[in-house]
Amino acid sequence: MTKYVYDFAEGSKELKDLLGGKGGNLAEMANLGLPVPPGFTVTTDACRAYLRGGDEPFGLADEIGLHLERLERQAGRRLGDPADPLLVSVRSGAKFSMPGMMETILNVGLSDATVAGLAAQTGGDDRFAWDSYRRLIQMFGRTVCGVPGEAFEQALDDAKRAAGTTDDLGLDAAALRGLVTRYREIFREHTGRDFPQDAREQLDQSIRAVFNSWNGERAVLYRRQEHIPADLGTAVNIVAMVFGNLGPDSGTGVAFTRDPATGAPGVYGDYLANAQGEDVVAGIRNTVPLQQLAADDKRAYDELMVIMAKLEAHYRDLCDIEFTIERGKLWMLQTRVGKRTAAAAFVIAAQLVDEGVIDLDEALHRVTGAQLAQLMFPAFDLTQAPERLARGIAASPGAAVGAVVFDAKRAAARAARGERVILVRRETNPDDLPGMIAAQGILTSRGGKTSHAAVVARGMGKTCVCGADRIEVHDGHFTVDGRTVAEGDVVSIDGSTGTVYLGAVPVQESPVVRYFEGTLSPDADPLVAAVDRILAHADKVRRLGVRANADTEDDAARARRFGAQGIGLCRTEHMFLGERRPLVERLILAGTDDERDKALADLLPLQRADFERLFEAMNGLPVTIRLIDPPLHEFLPPLDELAVRVALEESRGEPDGHDRALLDAVQRMHEENPMLGLRGVRLGLVVPGLFAMQIRAVAEATIACRERGITVRPEIMVPLVGAVQELEAVREEALRLLGSLGVQARVGTMIEVPRAALTAGEIARAADFFSFGTNDLTQMGWGFSRDDVEGAFFTRYLELGIFGVSPFESIDRDGVGRLVRIAVDEGRRARPDLHIGVCGEHGGDPASIHFFHDAGLDYVSCSPFRVPVARLEAGRCSVVATGSDSR
Ligand code: ADP
Ligand code: MG
Ligand code: MG
Repeated sequence: MTKYVYDFAEGSKELKDLLGGKGGNLAEMANLGLPVPPGFTVTTDACRAYLRGGDEPFGLADEIGLHLERLERQAGRRLGDPADPLLVSVRSGAKFSMPGMMETILNVGLSDATVAGLAAQTGGDDRFAWDSYRRLIQMFGRTVCGVPGEAFEQALDDAKRAAGTTDDLGLDAAALRGLVTRYREIFREHTGRDFPQDAREQLDQSIRAVFNSWNGERAVLYRRQEHIPADLGTAVNIVAMVFGNLGPDSGTGVAFTRDPATGAPGVYGDYLANAQGEDVVAGIRNTVPLQQLAADDKRAYDELMVIMAKLEAHYRDLCDIEFTIERGKLWMLQTRVGKRTAAAAFVIAAQLVDEGVIDLDEALHRVTGAQLAQLMFPAFDLTQAPERLARGIAASPGAAVGAVVFDAKRAAARAARGERVILVRRETNPDDLPGMIAAQGILTSRGGKTSHAAVVARGMGKTCVCGADRIEVHDGHFTVDGRTVAEGDVVSIDGSTGTVYLGAVPVQESPVVRYFEGTLSPDADPLVAAVDRILAHADKVRRLGVRANADTEDDAARARRFGAQGIGLCRTEHMFLGERRPLVERLILAGTDDERDKALADLLPLQRADFERLFEAMNGLPVTIRLIDPPLHEFLPPLDELAVRVALEESRGEPDGHDRALLDAVQRMHEENPMLGLRGVRLGLVVPGLFAMQIRAVAEATIACRERGITVRPEIMVPLVGAVQELEAVREEALRLLGSLGVQARVGTMIEVPRAALTAGEIARAADFFSFGTNDLTQMGWGFSRDDVEGAFFTRYLELGIFGVSPFESIDRDGVGRLVRIAVDEGRRARPDLHIGVCGEHGGDPASIHFFHDAGLDYVSCSPFRVPVARLEAGRCSVVATGSDSR
C-alpha cells in the first residue's frame, strides 16, 4: 500500500517531490536537531490521488490518525482535549515554492469546548484564547468553506467600533468572545451549517481545502506563468502550533542568512514582537530589523544566529527562514534555499567559493545566463525614491521611460515626431503592433507572461510590464489607487521587476556592462568581481566556442571586448543600404551586362573597405562573411510608395524616367512570398558577378590587411542552400577566384532550409563548415512566417500548450532540433573535420545553448550583447552539479 503520511523524523529535503519543499525542509531541520514543533506531512501522492478521484484515497484517514497519535504523544497533548488541547496548523507546500498561492489554516483544534483549555495552558490568558478561536473561524471559514473574507472583516470592524478602538489589541476577552459568536453566525449564514466543533473534522476538512487550493484560480495562473507543471500537487503539513502572540517575550519573524538583494554577508531579517506569523507575512503591522531582537532577547537571538549558521553550512547556500518565539523559546517554522536577485546570486556564489563552501564548478552551476542578461540591462536609479504607481508582471526586461499613450496609432504618430512613448493598453492585439514597435515600452493591465503583449515584446526585445491589475485603463487616461494619469504624462516602467513609476526616472548603465566595456575595474564592485571570476571559470571549462553576429567594425570591436572568439555571422546586406542605394539601383536596373559589371565594379571598393575595417577589428580571429541574402527588391523603395510617386509625376505631366524604371523593376520582381523567393544562393546563381564581387572584396581586403600586418581568417558563407549542386557552383567559382588572388579562405554554408539538413551528408562534401540559421530553419520547419505569426496567434498557442515558449525564442528540440541533429551527424559522417556552429538568434538563448552543446556543435554565434551570456551558459553546459538545492 502506498505510504501517504511521513512523520518529520521520516522525511528529508531529498524527498521534495513527495513532501513538498516546506515538508522536506521541516523534516531536514528536525533531523538536524533544530527546534521544530512536532508534525507530519501528507504527501503529494495523496493530493494527486485525491484530486483525481475527488475523494480521499483509501486508508489515508487511518494513516493520518496513526501519525496524529504519535504527534499527540510528542506534544504531550491531545487534539480536542478540553482540558489541555493540542492545536495544529495545516499548511500547504508544493515542490516549488508558490508564495501566497495556496492556503494555510492556523489554530485547528479550537472549539467552544477547548477554548478554555487553551486559556488554562497560557496561565489564564482568556483574551489570547478567544482571539485564537476567532482567527480559526475566520481562516477556516474563508479558505475551507469559501465564506467571503469581507463578512468577517466587517464584523471585526463593528466590534472595534463598539469597543471604541481602532486596534485589534484594543479588544478584550469579552469583546472577542462576542466576536466569536458573531463569526459563527456569519459562518452559518454563508454555509448553511454550524462551524464544526469536532477537532478531527476540522483537521480533515482543512487538509482537503489545502488539496483543493492546488487548483485554485491564483495557483493555476501562477503555475502557468512560472512554467510549473500542473500535475505535481501539493503536500500538506500538520504542525503543532506555537504562539508568538503570548506577550512581549513572544514574537515572530523572517530572516535570510545573507542579504537576498545584494548578497552582502550577514543575516538580514524582520521581527515583530507579540505577533503571529501571518501578521508578518501579510504585512499588517510594521516590523523591526532583526537586530532589535538582540536587545530584547539576547538568548533567543544568539540561538537563532547559531541555527542560521548551521543551516547555511548544511545547505551550503543562502537560506531563508520563518521562526516564532513563544515566551522566550525559539521555534523554527520553515526554511529553504532562499530566492535572491540576480546580483545576489553572483555575489553569494563567489563568496561561498571564498569561504571554501563550494568550488568554482558549483558556483558556475548556481548562476544562470538569464541572471547575467538581467544584470546587463540598464536599470533605474532609485536613489531619488521615485513614486511607485503600480506593480505588474515583469514580462520583458529593460528600463523604459516615456509619455503614456493609449492607442497604437497615436503612439506611432508621436514616436514618428521623435517623442518617447509608453503604449498603455488593457491588453494588446495584433492591431496594436505598429504602436508596440514605436513605443519604448509596453504596459498592460491584464494578462500574464504568455499574453500577446508579453510574447511580442520579448520577440522584439522591448521592455514590457503586463497584468498590472490595479491600473484601470480608459481611453485617454488610466487610474490607479485613486490617481489619474492622463495621455502624455510620463511614466517609467521596469520590465525586470514589473514596477511602474510616475515621472521620468533616471536610467543608469549597468556596472557589469561598464566592466565588459573596460571602463570599470573588476575590483570596483563586489558584483563585478563575482561576474569576472565566475565567467573566467566558464571560459576555462567550456567546450563550445562563442562568436558574435556583427556587421560593422564597432559591433565587432564591442563583441571582442565582450569576449567573442570571432565573428560567426557578418551580414553583408546592411552594406548596400544608405548612400549606396543608388549603386544597388543601378545594379538592379542594368539593362546590359556591361552596365551591370560597371555597377558591381563601383560597389567593389566600398565592400572591400567594409571588410578591411572588420578584419582589422578582429585581427587574428575568424570572420564569417555571409554572401548577400535578402531579395534584391528590399533595396528598392516599396511598391505602393513608388506607384503613388510615379502616378503623381505623370498626372502633373512631369514623368521621371528613373522612377518609372524603378517601378517597373519592383513590379517585375514582386513576390507573393519573398522569404521563399529569389534570395540567398538563388540570387547569386541568377545575377552574374554579384557573389564574385563580394568574394573578390573579401580576398582583396585580406591581402590589404596582411600587408599591414593584420592576421585575417576569412570564411565565406553561402546562404539558403538546399541542394549540394547550388553550393558546388558557388564554391567552384569562389575557389577559382581566391586561388587566382593567392588567398585562402574556408567556404561553407548556412543550414537553414530543411532540405539542406536532410541532405547534409552530401552538402558536407562541398562545405568546410556549417552554420545553422535557426530563424529560417524554424520558419521553414514549422511553416511559420515569423512576422505574421507572433502577433497573430502565438498567444493562443502558448495558452493551449502547443509550445511552452515561442520556438523563435528557444529552439524547438523535438522538431527543428531534430533537423539540427541529423545535419550534424550526417555532415560529420561525410566529413569528420566539418566545423559547425549556429548563427540564428537561438545562439544567445540559454536553453538553446545547452541543446547545441549536446548536439555537438563547435560554437554558437549571437549578438555582441549576448556574448557574455553565451560564454556563461556554455560553461554551465560543461560542469556537473555537485549537489545544490538552489533551484
Ligand atoms: P506560506 O507558505 O504562505 O509561507 P506557511 O505555511 O508558512 O505559509 O504559514 C504562514 C505563517 O503561519 C507562517 O509564516 C508561520 O509564521 C505561521 N505558522 C504556520 N504554522 C505554524 C505553527 N505550527 N505555529 C505557529 N505559527 C505557524
Ligand atoms: Mg511560510
Ligand atoms: Mg536566413
